Amino acid sequence: MTVSYWQDDAPATDAVEVDVAIIGAGISGASVAWWLRDAGLRVALIDKGDVCAGASGRNAGFVTCGSVEHFSRECDRHGEANALTLWQMCQDNLRLIEEHLIADGLECGYRRRGSYSLAGSPHEAEVLAKTAAQLEGHGVRVTVVDEAHIARHCGAVGFAGGVIYHDDGEVHPVRLVRGIIERSGATVYPHHEVRRIDQTRDGFAVQTRLRRFDASLVVLATNGYSADLHPWFADKIYPTRGQILVTEPVEPFLSAPCYANFVLDYFRQLEDGRVLIGGFRQLARETEVGTADIVHPEIHAALEAFLARHFPQLDSVGIDYRWSGTMGFSADGLPLVGALPGKTGLYIIGGYTAHGIGWGFKAAQLLADLILEGKQPPLISARRFGS
Ligand SMILES: Cc1cc2nc3c(=O)[nH]c(=O)nc-3n(C[C@H](O)[C@H](O)[C@H](O)COP(=O)(O)OP(=O)(O)OC[C@H]3O[C@@H](n4cnc5c(N)ncnc54)[C@H](O)[C@@H]3O)c2cc1C
Repeated sequence: MTVSYWQDDAPATDAVEVDVAIIGAGISGASVAWWLRDAGLRVALIDKGDVCAGASGRNAGFVTCGSVEHFSRECDRHGEANALTLWQMCQDNLRLIEEHLIADGLECGYRRRGSYSLAGSPHEAEVLAKTAAQLEGHGVRVTVVDEAHIARHCGAVGFAGGVIYHDDGEVHPVRLVRGIIERSGATVYPHHEVRRIDQTRDGFAVQTRLRRFDASLVVLATNGYSADLHPWFADKIYPTRGQILVTEPVEPFLSAPCYANFVLDYFRQLEDGRVLIGGFRQLARETEVGTADIVHPEIHAALEAFLARHFPQLDSVGIDYRWSGTMGFSADGLPLVGALPGKTGLYIIGGYTAHGIGWGFKAAQLLADLILEGKQPPLISARRFGS
C-alpha cells in the first residue's frame, strides 16, 4: 500500500524499541518469534490485521510433506537427493510441532491420521505408484491403494487409485498459530500496517500509522503480501489466490485428509463432521492472483461439481462457508528463508507455494539458526535468488 502525504499522520514521538520486529503474524512470524523466545530479545510481532489475517487463517490445515508436485516429479525437477532433503525438512516440521507444541499442551485439533494423494487419471496413478516406490526406498511409510480402498476409507468414488502417506497430520491452523504466539513471549501489535521500513544508523525504523518501531533486526514474514513492502519480492514471491468451501456437518466417513489431481485439489472432514473442499485455481490461473479477498464463482461451482461427482452420498448437503486466501508462490516452488541480499539485518521467510503449514515451524527454526548462529539453511536459502 502507498501512503499519501495527507495520510501520513503517524505520531513521531511514540516509538517502541525492540530487538526484532517481525512483520506478519501468521505461521511464519509466530514461529520465528517462538524460536527466538529463549534468546533474551525483545520481539514485536506486527500485523496489519488480526493474528492469522492472511493465508495462515484461511488454509485447509493439512500438515503434509513435500510440495506442489508428487515426489517423483520433484526428483525430476530438483534431483532425488534434494527432493529427499526437502521431504525430510517437512517430516522435521511435524516432529518439531509434536515435540515442542503438542507435547506442551497446545490444543489445535492436531491429528496424525496420515493423508491420501488420489489420482484423477490412470496416468496419475502410475506417477503415484512410482512416487511410492521411491519414497519407500527412503524409509517413508507409504502404501499404494486402489479404488475399492478409496471408496471404503474416503467415501469417494471416481479416483483411479492413490497412496497413503501414513505420517502426515492435520490441524486447526488458527488455534495452532495462536498457541505458538502465546508461548513465544512476543508482544503482538495487530492492526498496525507497516508502511515503510527505513534503514537507520542502529538498524531499522518500521513505520506504521499508529507507532514507529525502532528495531535492530527486521523479519518480513509477509509471504504473499511481501512485494507490497519491498520490490525485491516482485519476481520471487507471487500472490496467488486459493478458494475453499465447507459444508454443513455430516456423519463421519473420511479417514484422513486427501489431496487429488496432482495436489491441485483437496478435501478433509473436520472434527465437527463438516467437509472442507479446496482447489481448482487451475481453472483461472491468470486471474486468481493478487491479494484481493474474492470468492470466485466459477471455482466455487467447480468445487460443488467435485463434491457431487466424488461424493454422491452428499448430494443435498448445504454449504456453510466460502472463502479465499492469498498464498505466496515462489519462482521455483520452494520456500525462501534468509537475509534480503545486500541488507544486513533484514530477513525473510515465506514463499511456501501452498504448503506453509507443512513447512512454517521448521522454516522458522532455520531462520532463527541463521539470525542467532549465522547458519545458512540448505536448499531453501533466499541466497539462491541473488540480488
Ligand atoms: C486456500 C488455501 C489453502 C491452503 N491449504 C494449506 C494446507 O492445507 N496446508 C499447508 O501447508 N498450507 C496451506 N496453504 C498455504 C499456507 O496457508 C501458507 O503457506 C501459510 O499460511 C503462509 O504463512 P505465512 O505466515 O508465511 O503467511 P500469511 O499467513 O499470509 O501471513 C502474512 C501476514 O502478513 C501480514 N501483512 C502483510 N503485509 C503487511 C504489512 N504491510 N504490515 C503488517 N502486516 C502485514 C498479513 O496481514 C498476514 O497476516 C493454503 C493457503 C490457502 C490460501
